[in-house]
Amino acid sequence: MQLVLSTSHVQQLRDHLLQDDQERIAVVHCSTSGGDHAHRETRLLATAVHPVPDADLETQSRSACRPALDVERDITADCRRHGMHPIVIHSHPFDATPTFSRSDSDMMDGYREWLTGLYPDMHLGVGVLGTHGLATVIVPAAADQFTDLPVTVVGDWLLDPPLTTGPACDTPETDTVNGGTPGSIDRERYDRSIRALTTSGQHRLATTPIAVVGIGGLGSIIAEELARYGAHRLTVVDPDVIEPSNLPRLFGCHADHVGDPKVSAIKQHLERLNPQMEISAVQAMAEDVPDLLKAVDLIVAGVDRVSARMWLNQFAARHLVPYVDAGMVIDVDDDPDTQQITAMEGYIQLIAPGATACFDCLGRGDPEQARIEHLSDDALAEELDRGYITATDLAPEPAVVPLNGIIASKTVQLLAKQITGYDDPAASLRFEGLDNVLVETRTIPSDNCPTCGGNGILGRSDTTATNPDRIDTNDLDLSLALETEPTGGKDTEEQP
Ligand SMILES: [Zn+2]
Ligand SMILES: [Zn+2]
Repeated sequence: MQLVLSTSHVQQLRDHLLQDDQERIAVVHCSTSGGDHAHRETRLLATAVHPVPDADLETQSRSACRPALDVERDITADCRRHGMHPIVIHSHPFDATPTFSRSDSDMMDGYREWLTGLYPDMHLGVGVLGTHGLATVIVPAAADQFTDLPVTVVGDWLLDPPLTTGPACDTPETDTVNGGTPGSIDRERYDRSIRALTTSGQHRLATTPIAVVGIGGLGSIIAEELARYGAHRLTVVDPDVIEPSNLPRLFGCHADHVGDPKVSAIKQHLERLNPQMEISAVQAMAEDVPDLLKAVDLIVAGVDRVSARMWLNQFAARHLVPYVDAGMVIDVDDDPDTQQITAMEGYIQLIAPGATACFDCLGRGDPEQARIEHLSDDALAEELDRGYITATDLAPEPAVVPLNGIIASKTVQLLAKQITGYDDPAASLRFEGLDNVLVETRTIPSDNCPTCGGNGILGRSDTTATNPDRIDTNDLDLSLALETEPTGGKDTEEQP
């Protein structure tokens, strides 16, 4: 079991719990994700931080704090009513990396006896926050002892100061790469990249489960580069079969693959490239395999359907899974005699839910296009007939392999930064192909966002209590969410 927080949750905890030298309490309401199938352990996802007001504390000093008994009862009943699990966190403002004190342990034992009897199917967590560290333990439902609760913070590179979490946090898991030897990687094969990433960076790359959604011109290169770089655990998801018009851009695919599912062709190719890989090939739309996506630590997508992007964005927010979206646009003018390329752009957005802006913070969704993508053939024919949509709306977009290659490589570089931590990943990158300019943009999540804002679905997992699947994003103030870095920003490259 692990606890997943976003940087916004950590900031809220710090703001309330560390405001002066007095101990305080806040309760984090958590949903659960995974655990009901073999794909991965249960993750407790923070949905909201509820500060306990000073007036509700029966004891408060620089070395102790405790809510009144009826407040404790209300806190847990409220959490229960929302179908959530509580993590009760208090502060040691005098400690950098705190541990539970003797009196904390006594209080925790009291909680455990009281609550496990009252709500036997609820997980009960307790934590202590210091100026730099957070330690957490949990009594899982039906258990009767506290055990360590490792913490993952989505977007942790944005925290200042960084948050130190318990010892269980960065321990290599048992994995089956290299015949089950935990943590071992093929040092001969990866010699050159270990020299860049270090052994532990290479190990993180090998053990991080990643989903690549969309095996087209972008996704096939992303999958291949990830595999060559040393990512060993890939889930590739795409519903389509290979058509002749895909061959100019699809890495790993050959003329005799026409008619085969894209995911089977890429799986064969990657396994030949590196037999150590564990590749799960899923011929489906991402929307139809949410359980498989809950089992990964990162989702990267290069898909042409807007509805898929919008769905993945909401999935990422709900399940606190970072999602990297890559795409591109080539514009040509309409005159068939003088036809010219007028724009050739690629863009990459890192959605670390609660830490960076999501699609809907930036108004990048397109509900009308998503609606068209969901029309049946009959409905589509009728709308064409009536002139609601035109043939141009449905024509395939232009695409060329060199632009795919540039954007795919920048995407893999961003993923590697995030996984190995050798540098902070960019939140948003835009490449202007005609001018050869790459621009990095910082993004800030909007509190008004219907998806990741205060009234959104952040960390809600599959619960439908608030705002289920809302996609109307037209009324957002974009100026709040975009903050462009001036020239000379980190990672900004200009090529003459
Ligand atoms: Zn304490
Ligand atoms: Zn958002």
